[in-house]
Amino acid sequence: MPTSLNADLHCHSVVSDGTLTPEALAARAQRNGVQLWALTDHDEIGGQQRAAAAAQAHAMDYLTGTEISVSFANTTVHIVGLGFDANNAALAQGLAATRGGRDTRAQEMAQDLARVGIGGAYEGALKYVSNPELISRTHFARFLIDAKVCKDTGEVFRKYLIEGKPGFVPHRWAALGDTVRWITQAGGMAVIAHPARYRLTANEEFALFSEFKQHGGQGVEVVTGSHSVAEYAEYADMAREFGLAASRGSDFHSPDESHTDLGSLPPLPSGVTPVWELLAERIQHAP
Ligand code: AMP
Ligand code: MN
Ligand code: MN
Ligand code: MN
Repeated sequence: MPTSLNADLHCHSVVSDGTLTPEALAARAQRNGVQLWALTDHDEIGGQQRAAAAAQAHAMDYLTGTEISVSFANTTVHIVGLGFDANNAALAQGLAATRGGRDTRAQEMAQDLARVGIGGAYEGALKYVSNPELISRTHFARFLIDAKVCKDTGEVFRKYLIEGKPGFVPHRWAALGDTVRWITQAGGMAVIAHPARYRLTANEEFALFSEFKQHGGQGVEVVTGSHSVAEYAEYADMAREFGLAASRGSDFHSPDESHTDLGSLPPLPSGVTPVWELLAERIQHAP
């Protein structure tokens, strides 16, 4: 499969913090010309069967997917897993443990928001949650917008829920090495998600890429809804430098919130190895 394949290997459904069902995402992906799709809900694989079946129904090739929250260098880093066996017990256990702290964290976030006069945020956020194990900052953002505290998601994440702002609660997510091993030992490929989004120093970023590679990580997102055009080139270079395959994904969450639609990004730059080349045997082919 060529570098120019319309692959979208990063998006979210109601099983985590997206607003569309796996079926609605599949229909939208197909309408937008996606040829190879993966649903990558945060810390969850509960939507994988539905997504794979919907991909079949819409004649798209499919790779299993998830996006795991990791703590690294005092920040949160996301690692996408692709093409794993969704029935792997160790992966399921690791994901369940990663989801485990979310509810307590959410209650603490609400207590922090109450201190600045925003009451009822936990109950408010819960109204937007469809998976009770997966309450996220996105659900708080939806509550804060509908309660007219903020006008959009951008404003929410400038004023609240990020480090140093009300509603931010430091959290210990999974370890990088464990996460990469859960994915690779389930037969999948670990991919560093949207690397340009992290506030890492050059040394920390080098450490992330090196340690990721040592643990068995094989890919990095190059073309993502979170990167600028200049960053596509920058991370294509990083992929080559570290011997990593390149991935492409919109990170679509919602028609009302996401600025990058499924399947709408430019192709991968030439001169990189696409992740789908190394994952050829893991692809569930359309009928
Ligand atoms: P959590 O996993 O609960 O920490 O929530 C992280 C999610 O919040 C991300 O996956 C995004 O969906 C959303 N998010 C984080 N930062 C921003 C931002 N600056 N703008 C919009 N959404 C954001
Ligand atoms: Mn999200
Ligand atoms: Mn992410
Ligand atoms: Mn994402």
